Amino acid sequence: MSIISSILQKEEFSREDIISLLSIEEPELIEELRSEAERVLYRYRGPNVYFRGLVEFSNICSSDCYYCGIRKSNSQVERYLISKEEIVECALWCAKQGYGSIVLQSGERQDKKFTDFVTDAVRSIKKATRSERLPQGLGITLCVGEQSREVYQDFFDAGAHRYLLRIEASDKELFSFIHPSNQSFDSRESCLRILKEIGYLVGTGVMIGLPGQSLEHLADDILFFKKAGVDMIGMGPFIVHEQTPFSTYKDETRLETNFLNTLKMIAVTRLVLKDVNIAATTALQAIQHDGREQGLKFGANVVMPQITPEKFRKQYLLYAGKPCIDENAELCKACLTRRIQSVGRSVAIDIWGDRRPVQKG
Ligand code: SAH
Repeated sequence: MSIISSILQKEEFSREDIISLLSIEEPELIEELRSEAERVLYRYRGPNVYFRGLVEFSNICSSDCYYCGIRKSNSQVERYLISKEEIVECALWCAKQGYGSIVLQSGERQDKKFTDFVTDAVRSIKKATRSERLPQGLGITLCVGEQSREVYQDFFDAGAHRYLLRIEASDKELFSFIHPSNQSFDSRESCLRILKEIGYLVGTGVMIGLPGQSLEHLADDILFFKKAGVDMIGMGPFIVHEQTPFSTYKDETRLETNFLNTLKMIAVTRLVLKDVNIAATTALQAIQHDGREQGLKFGANVVMPQITPEKFRKQYLLYAGKPCIDENAELCKACLTRRIQSVGRSVAIDIWGDRRPVQKG
């Protein structure tokens, strides 16, 4: 038996095991890793794929992350904020399609006008989407960056029950290398802790292929997810955006390597964390047309169909080559459902699809 096969038979994995698994290059061994991740997914969660309709409701951002296309200093971006009425319309559309959940994502703003807007939008979505099919309304995930405990509590009380906040890089040095000095690893980590204390299902994740990132960093990222006790993981390949300081890494960024390493990260995260929800992210599809299906085959079980009204999509370019910016939500749904069935999985209808229940009225 190969060393890899014997590692794959373990229930618990050491840091060295994780590094060995992430180092695999031979196609047969990658297939062995993939099929083991799929087996663990089926055993702990079954074949269902959960849809979370993604609404990127604003690209106004007060952060200046060196890698991100909508960073504050990118003056070429036309900034927008979608009205509450339009957001509620998107939510009603999701509910009608049988999507159990919606994700509201935006740039980061801490001003009260913005945080009150989000609280109000959450409350309105809950009110509008309660029905016989969805007695608790749509499940709402927020992804609006670092906020105070009070604001996180307000969002939760309004009805949001999941929160996504990627740690981006769990190594402190790497974190400071990719962010300006007013953003700190400690503050992000403390936000994740507060979100858990409030009662949210918490998601985090990292980008894969960042300048200066090693396989050891990635192994430690997985151990970080485990230690943080998160419920959801979203990871994607790092893709250079021309209008950012990290455009200087364009020539050395290997998209194919970042793509494959993302698939391996999904598989190994599945093996280590077993029953969490893992997203097959849009960034995978920016590199290969069937990227999200491949993510599912490597152990992911969540997909976020694009619901952002078309007229705004081109202004929410976090990275180059973002897919689906010209398709309307109907087309996106039909195309995704077909893609999911093509890899032998089924789309779950009218349910939240969480790792564990959270009671919300
Ligand atoms: N402002 C929110 C949402 C951020 S955008 C927040 O702070 O949580 C969502 C994710 O896109 C980020 O967490 C980051 O991991 C990813 N992203 C940003 N720029 C990227 C790039 N150039 N390549 C790949 N992913 C990127």
